Amino acid sequence: MLKLAERMGRAKPSAIILIAEKAKQLKAEGRDIISFSIGVPNFLPGPHVYQAVRDWLDKDNGQYGSNRGSKALLDAFIEHMKGSGLDGYTAENCAVAIGAKHILYDLAEALLDEGDEIAFPTPYWTSYVDIADIMGAKVKLLPCPPEQHYKLTPAQLDEALASKPKIFLFNNPSNPTGMVYTKEEVRALADVLVKHTDTWIITDDIYNRMVFDGVGYHNFVHFRAELRDRLIFMDSMSKTYGMPGWRIGMMAGPTQVANAVVTLNSNHITNIPEVASVAAVAALTGPQDVPAEKCAEFAKRRDLVVDLLNGIPGVECPRPQGAFYAFPDISCAFGKRHNGKVLENDVDVCTALMDAKGVACVPGSAFGEPRGLRISYTCPADDLQPGMQRICEFFAELT
Ligand code: PMP
Repeated sequence: MLKLAERMGRAKPSAIILIAEKAKQLKAEGRDIISFSIGVPNFLPGPHVYQAVRDWLDKDNGQYGSNRGSKALLDAFIEHMKGSGLDGYTAENCAVAIGAKHILYDLAEALLDEGDEIAFPTPYWTSYVDIADIMGAKVKLLPCPPEQHYKLTPAQLDEALASKPKIFLFNNPSNPTGMVYTKEEVRALADVLVKHTDTWIITDDIYNRMVFDGVGYHNFVHFRAELRDRLIFMDSMSKTYGMPGWRIGMMAGPTQVANAVVTLNSNHITNIPEVASVAAVAALTGPQDVPAEKCAEFAKRRDLVVDLLNGIPGVECPRPQGAFYAFPDISCAFGKRHNGKVLENDVDVCTALMDAKGVACVPGSAFGEPRGLRISYTCPADDLQPGMQRICEFFAELT
């Protein structure tokens, strides 16, 4: 029997996508399912985006595009970054790819040799481990339990970087917890990072426009400009603009790294589809009312979700201030019974919740925190309250 490459033995499909697919399948079979599983924003970009695409169709020249990204898109991204306080980047510092996931994959390929270490806080977005595994990198997890509101402390970072990992990967606002680091917290971590000059820093900040309560978005380079030489900022059109299926991710960082991504693009994809690029330019440069409205709406939904969760005896949900996720500690359910069945862990809780109440959530273990479960609250508005009510009923029925 012919064999696949060894690395495929380490590769696994995304746990989140598997659960979302199961929820979809049950719904198609006629089950009453409310899905809080996949992190899709569930809104569409403004009409100007579709109009720009229609106009472009008449002008298409049928050619390949730039490996780095079209000039219009790079210019638009550079202007957009300024809105997040990230000035001074030029096209040579930037590259685009098929979503931030692809950017991350390219960065892993560009920066990690087999056996190199990549460090990041737990809970983490599932693909961090999956991509590192494919690369044959060693993962160093920095546990940030609910008691510390899922946030990394400067002392933890200092200790972790003492072993000189090749990459420190930081995600703010966080998927799966929705946590956002305050200005002071980011500054304190930046002060630690400047001491450890052997480590590349990747900031996966694709939710940077989805921050609530006036906390604001902060990046290490806002406080320590010297980190620019080894920090790579990642962004995406997926969440902010409701364009996950268009598949556009961006990065800005040292030219050496941007050029490496361009070289990989030239071997993988050549260019992102020109039509997607046109849509991205329209979204970045056009009216920003849709993302702003959605951010305000998500903040309201957060209130409803977190208040209901924290009203359940034994459940603790640190208050998220960004993205569209809540990540309650549901370990109070472990060892209890639902409909006579003992719930041993987060997977049992999610399975029972889906079977008994038709609510799909992702078990925390998929994100490295088995005491939690992730609720993505971007479902259709009419599903939110009933879905949360079903979760409350489920916990009330535990014996
Ligand atoms: N980083 C984080 C933290 C994410 O949550 C996601 C998407 N779920 C991505 C990166 C990838 O986004 P994209 O759709 O641009 O590939």
